[in-house]
Amino acid sequence: MSSPVDLRSDTVTRPSALMRTAMAEAEVGDDVYGEDPTIVELEQRVAELLGHEAGLFTASGSLANQLGLRLLVAAGEEVVCEAQSHIVRAELGAAAAFSGITSRTWESPRGLLDVEQIRGFVRPNAGPYLVSTTAIAMENTHNFGGGTVQPLEVMQDIGEFASSAGLGVHLDGARLWNAHVASGVPLAAYGATADTVSVCLSKGLGAPVGSVLVASAERITRARVWRKRYGGGMRQAGILAAAGLFALDHNVERLIDDHDRAQRLGFALAEAVDGVVVAEHIETNMVVLELAGTPWTAAALAAAAREQDVWISAMGPTFARLVTHLDIDDDDIDRAAAVLTSLLRSSP
Ligand SMILES: *Cc1c(COP(=O)(O)O)cnc(C)c1O
Repeated sequence: MSSPVDLRSDTVTRPSALMRTAMAEAEVGDDVYGEDPTIVELEQRVAELLGHEAGLFTASGSLANQLGLRLLVAAGEEVVCEAQSHIVRAELGAAAAFSGITSRTWESPRGLLDVEQIRGFVRPNAGPYLVSTTAIAMENTHNFGGGTVQPLEVMQDIGEFASSAGLGVHLDGARLWNAHVASGVPLAAYGATADTVSVCLSKGLGAPVGSVLVASAERITRARVWRKRYGGGMRQAGILAAAGLFALDHNVERLIDDHDRAQRLGFALAEAVDGVVVAEHIETNMVVLELAGTPWTAAALAAAAREQDVWISAMGPTFARLVTHLDIDDDDIDRAAAVLTSLLRSSP
């Protein structure tokens, strides 16, 4: 039996043999004492890439986001963001649970940001009656939007508006690498639009664990205290950081292959069945299936595909997501396209 084609997420990659060798050979020390040279190198390297002063290695993207948010927003104040943002949909209320932060959201198609919408939405210094907005959160690429790339100019406008209004900006850049490779925009140009930025090493880059938060040196010093307070201080975790450094060396530029494969898969499905895939919306490594016009629910399609060793995510009643990554090759794309096409052309 062939192994499954796992398109549920780009988090499912397993570290390669070479990555494991890099991990095994990493120089390590006690990072709570600031003595793990591999972690220090990773933090500095990511900070430099994003044009910020300092970085902090974290066990997950959620932790990096939550540390970033709490640096910018005090208890009882609000962060505003698009309604499908990971920070409000997929971090289990952490901003409220950990930091007393409230949130308010607006809807936008595919998660695409619009500065005018935000300008009318925020309430800085709202006084004694309304909640005061103190930060805007952006997400690039937008995960639940289908891997959408936010245009740099829009992010710059939001950054400029925020600083004129005295608001902080957090950028959830879990897949900022994909945005960078798809658009050609330098990472530092994206980085310059926000006060705090998180990036994941464990998605498309293929590391087993880890994210990095970057910000000013002063903010990162405070984030380090909160990371320890949350129980996120790790010791000889240079073994994990080495995987991140390896990923930066080897797995960024190749994301273009994931994007090409998403295009191939998306175009094959768009051609085979009407109205399920909008091929022009495939910007990075995700293909969104909208099944409302078919007899399928997302759950039924995912279950039927799984019986034929093609694994996909049912994200909503009629919304399914396919994600390409390091462990998906051309043959996998052909298999997935064949299985999904034949299912979509039939009924459950
Ligand atoms: C995956 C992801 C994160 C972080 O997730 P963890 O599982 O906590 O590492 C944050 N933001 C976005 C947009 C993501 O897709």
